[in-house]
Amino acid sequence: MNGINLSDIASLENLIDRSGKIAITAHMRPDGDAVGSCSALYHCLKEMGKSPVIVLPDASPGYLGFVTDSIGSGDILDFDSCRPEAERAVAGSDLIFCLDYNAFHRTGQMEEVLSLSRAKKVLIDHHLNPDRTMFDLTFSEILVSSTAELLFHILLSMARYASDAGKLPAEAALALMTGMTTDTNNFANSVYPSTLRMASSLLEAGVDRDCIVGHLYQEYREGRIRLVGELLSENLKITDDGVAYMILDRETMDRYGLQEGETEGFVNIPLSIGRVRMSCFFKEDQDRIRVSLRSKKGISANRCAAIYFHGGGHEQAAGGRLAVPDDVKSIDEVAAYAEKATHEFMNDIQKDKCTGF
Ligand code: 5GP
Ligand code: MN
Repeated sequence: MNGINLSDIASLENLIDRSGKIAITAHMRPDGDAVGSCSALYHCLKEMGKSPVIVLPDASPGYLGFVTDSIGSGDILDFDSCRPEAERAVAGSDLIFCLDYNAFHRTGQMEEVLSLSRAKKVLIDHHLNPDRTMFDLTFSEILVSSTAELLFHILLSMARYASDAGKLPAEAALALMTGMTTDTNNFANSVYPSTLRMASSLLEAGVDRDCIVGHLYQEYREGRIRLVGELLSENLKITDDGVAYMILDRETMDRYGLQEGETEGFVNIPLSIGRVRMSCFFKEDQDRIRVSLRSKKGISANRCAAIYFHGGGHEQAAGGRLAVPDDVKSIDEVAAYAEKATHEFMNDIQKDKCTGF
């Protein structure tokens, strides 16, 4: 990653000093990086004598309970289950941290209250193309594994922690290691020299990685694994362009009693097949189809998500949606849409290569 600007750190310290009420926010359907970053910052701000509140668009998923258990009751709110309190917490803050998202629309139902808020806003994020005009202070870096990693480097640049991970609150260290672990898919992708330095410092500081890995990857429900089996044997398609796709409909989710967050990681599995260059995962939601994309080097999942799925993200990991009935009339039309869109996309890449783009 590029170096952190020390005058930005001074501005950040100043903003924190001057602020009474602080809200920490993250994107819709928060993942390990979003929840880990929010939790780590919460514990650091607490230690600084502040009273921060974490406000999320949707509840933190159950599998991250080992990270959020240490957060005071009433200090983590979400718009889905307690909208009035969540809205008041955002509207009443002097300072709002925006973690792991690059634009307000990524917070879904929280977008309006964020846009209307007159609080100072600080962005800490690792996605492409941040909407800088919306923030008073922007820490945006794409050459890092995760927001958790970027936050780690920011915290250690602060006078209080003086480059010593051992000075971080233990709960913050655990949360940062968790965020980095989930966004790198347990060190499988987006690992930079700075990522390993972070991991090494946190291990030295006493973080129990075996415990984190146990919670993240060894506590699945049996039904989740059996569903993976069904999807891989009966649902997975691979096109002649090397695009793999799987479509998960509501009926199948109900049959396996699937909960929010349980399909995390499904999209990565087909990428382990040699001829697969991009993997797409479609999941039926209330009024839309949610889309996850992962690609190998040389193919931009971000571009595919932006052109065909109203979304974006990172070069190799992106997401978006298909609107029902505007893009597809129902889940039954997704396969045809996926085949057509990805064929066009992969052909355009081929053409770009030939014409030197
Ligand atoms: P996932 O497939 O895990 O849901 O998302 C992969 C990456 O794409 C994440 O970094 C996420 O923030 C980003 N992403 C997911 N959905 C959207 C979307 O609708 N719009 C944008 N801009 N990014 C998304
Ligand atoms: Mn992230």
